[in-house]
Amino acid sequence: MYSKYLGNRTIIDFLSENIKEKPVIKIAEASSKQSNKPVVKKTDVWTPDLDLVLPINGDQIPGFSRLVNWSGWKGYEDDHLAHDFAAYIDSSGNCVLGLPEQTEVRAVADGVVIQVSQGLCEGDGYATFINIEHGPKGGEKFSSYHHVNPLVKYDQSVQKGEVIATLHKDSGTIEGRLVHLHFELVNGWNVAKGYRARHVDPGCIFPKLTDLTAAPQGKLEFKINGKSPKKIVIANFEKLLCTN
Ligand SMILES: [Zn+2]
Repeated sequence: MYSKYLGNRTIIDFLSENIKEKPVIKIAEASSKQSNKPVVKKTDVWTPDLDLVLPINGDQIPGFSRLVNWSGWKGYEDDHLAHDFAAYIDSSGNCVLGLPEQTEVRAVADGVVIQVSQGLCEGDGYATFINIEHGPKGGEKFSSYHHVNPLVKYDQSVQKGEVIATLHKDSGTIEGRLVHLHFELVNGWNVAKGYRARHVDPGCIFPKLTDLTAAPQGKLEFKINGKSPKKIVIANFEKLLCTN
């Protein structure tokens, strides 16, 4: 999607008191569930009871407080079968759109890198992604990480929490894509039913991702859990291009 022009880096208003008063929940805590099942070679589907880490560690982000689901799962018809790690509440209560460039991206579980692609889409230099297969080889249970600078190679084994990439930032102008991680989970491509048939909403596997949800999704004017933000900060760019 394309956003309208933004003349200033800081716009709109500030967060609601309701949001500021909620307890701080670090990203790392959201996935540190006890007694969850490790991902092993027999694990064939993504479920919420697996022992996983989120691909972005909020402790790395200066002033980070809580994630905001600003551009998450939109379903098959709207064609965003992913969760974007793109927005967060900072320690001052700002809602920041765009993560710091060079933020590390982590593998959510043990697995093997099966694809490292850069610039697959013609004319789209941002289409850089990593696919990792988890569970049985050929079982096609994937995690997928887009808009990144890869630090791993094809066929490389990785462990849960291992840094596999950093986030990618467009350079050179005031115009660019929101710095974010487009993150997908797939339970097999299931070609017979179409390539999208078995994508999984990451918000169902990591329920904390949807604690603070913006509506409408992916827009520059939105409410968070029904409350109007008091202030929104656009990081890195003055004009935003596609945010997916
Ligand atoms: Zn996305």
